[in-house]
Amino acid sequence: MPYIIFGISFIYITFFVSTIMCISTRLANNRPVMFARSRCDQCAKRLRWWQLIPCLGWLLQLGRCPDCHQPVSFTYPLAESSVGLLGALIIHSNPFNAAVSLVVFNLILLALACQDAAHLAISTWPIVVLLVLALIQHQFSWSKLLMVTTMYLASLYFIHRFQFMGNGDADCIAVLSLMFPIQVAIASILFASLIALTHFYLSHQRSNRLPFIPYLFSGLVIVQLYAFI
Ligand SMILES: [Zn+2]
Repeated sequence: MPYIIFGISFIYITFFVSTIMCISTRLANNRPVMFARSRCDQCAKRLRWWQLIPCLGWLLQLGRCPDCHQPVSFTYPLAESSVGLLGALIIHSNPFNAAVSLVVFNLILLALACQDAAHLAISTWPIVVLLVLALIQHQFSWSKLLMVTTMYLASLYFIHRFQFMGNGDADCIAVLSLMFPIQVAIASILFASLIALTHFYLSHQRSNRLPFIPYLFSGLVIVQLYAFI
């Protein structure tokens, strides 16, 4: 029975991840979000039903569009499989309420990562939802709130002065530090910086501004998955 719940959770969460990434891509390309068939990003041909299956769709088309033969980004199956696995593990090993708030927190942060990747800016209201989730979860303490608030205000001062990162990045780091043990937050930031630097040096098109939240989310997923090993 636990394995059936694990499998169903995995399938459900991969569909959520796929939907979030699909909506983000449509918004970034100024395409209608509702009632529109998914199309190939390169040739705009309608995707067949089997291409839309999370994880499997990418494998079935061998990573290339069957019409124009252009590569389909590996980010889709990677995000669907890793966040799906993480969500299923969270549901499998936490009480229901804690599991729901952790999974919702991860999915909202994924949506913010997609928005940051597309626009180098994020909306404020999802941060408020993340803050509420962080404040109602069981690991909350007033001393931690005081410490994170002090560090957040100090980082806003330095961001304003030196412009080394965006306000949205500081917002996400602050809510992440409230939601998870502080070691998880620090490890996620270190992983995020490592992935961002590696990606920057391997990338052919180097931009002078990098979206940090996709890397922060990747770091957080790695650290959370590592905790289950
Ligand atoms: Zn195509």
